[in-house]
Amino acid sequence: MIWATVSAKGAARWAGGHPWIYRSDVADHPDHPGMVAVRDARGRFLGTALCSPASEIRLRLLERTEVPIDAQWWHARIAGCRDRRAGIDANAWRAVHAEGDGLPALIVDRYDRWLVVQILSAALETQRSLIIDALREVFAPEGILFRHDTATRRLEKLNERVELAWGDVPEQVEVREGGVRWFAAPWSGQKTGAFLDQRENRLLAGRVMPAGGTALDCFSYHGSFALHLAGMAREVTALDASAEALARGREHAALNSFDNIDFVAADAFGQLPKWGDEGRRFDLVVVDPPAFAKSKGHVAAALRGYREINRRAMHLVAPGGWLLTASCSFHVTRPLFHEMLVSAAGDSGRRFTMQAQLGQAIDHPEVLTIPETGYLKGALLRAD
Ligand code: SAH
Repeated sequence: MIWATVSAKGAARWAGGHPWIYRSDVADHPDHPGMVAVRDARGRFLGTALCSPASEIRLRLLERTEVPIDAQWWHARIAGCRDRRAGIDANAWRAVHAEGDGLPALIVDRYDRWLVVQILSAALETQRSLIIDALREVFAPEGILFRHDTATRRLEKLNERVELAWGDVPEQVEVREGGVRWFAAPWSGQKTGAFLDQRENRLLAGRVMPAGGTALDCFSYHGSFALHLAGMAREVTALDASAEALARGREHAALNSFDNIDFVAADAFGQLPKWGDEGRRFDLVVVDPPAFAKSKGHVAAALRGYREINRRAMHLVAPGGWLLTASCSFHVTRPLFHEMLVSAAGDSGRRFTMQAQLGQAIDHPEVLTIPETGYLKGALLRAD
């Protein structure tokens, strides 16, 4: 086994429940990515970690006890992830949420009989065949796809290709989520083919939708929230800047036999004020924008964007109506998001109550000592 020695500060991070040790806290380490045994300055064994020499995050803790990281180990860890996902009302869910499931840098999303995988560190890449074998044993999928077209891989000097790992994976997979169905696009859709992290919030939106009312799904992508609203609503408007995403939304409406969803291709920042001026109001509004803050330096600008869009959205909520609003920017923390909503509500001149605080779906576990495992936050508000 190859060894890496860490400083007291590095060791303290692991003791505090965070699996990352940064470059500056590692005294000696191998030049090649792979698995290492980690010791403190006094030579005490601390655990086995993934070591990525090209990354600022040099070590990622995999296992604290002295056991081999072999086929059996991977099988047991991945089977554990599967067992923790019992009872989800959908046939698509995140099967492995990286650090959130004790498997740093590994994302696995299950879409019915297929898996979409992201290996996000150079060291984990050395475990590729063990991971694929374990996934095949645990899930018996018909195919496994690598969605490696993500910038995170660049930081690790890894290629950014979409490639078949095993078997066959179709262009579209039919997903059943609560009472609705839609197609995930594993090869070409956003993230690994869809946004699984909002599932519970979509189901919640469907439950509170006032019967016979009107709804606006803003930043709709392929109509995901709109579909859950359309069963109850008289009319749903689904807005997105991407005409291609909306075209898929239309297919989803047809798949569910809904003819009450109006798909509008427009920039939300321009369209919401227009509707506001025209006096349009909705009984339920969803605001689910892309991450406005990709890094810490963008937080202030992002908050201005969130505030603006939420202010406009609040204006469109009918008396007694609902606003379900979210942010998936990790750097916009819950307190900042809350403060932004308070400020937007203050501007609106109306009274909004917090009916529920929202987060990511239960298959995206957020470890309390690893803030990076939680990024999605939201609120369900109600207007007087
Ligand atoms: N609500 C969706 C996910 C939304 S992802 C779901 O639950 O599946 C964010 C979406 O915002 C993307 O589809 C993107 O095309 C869209 N978008 C980004 N900027 C936009 C803008 N300025 N106006 C409207 N839509 C925008």
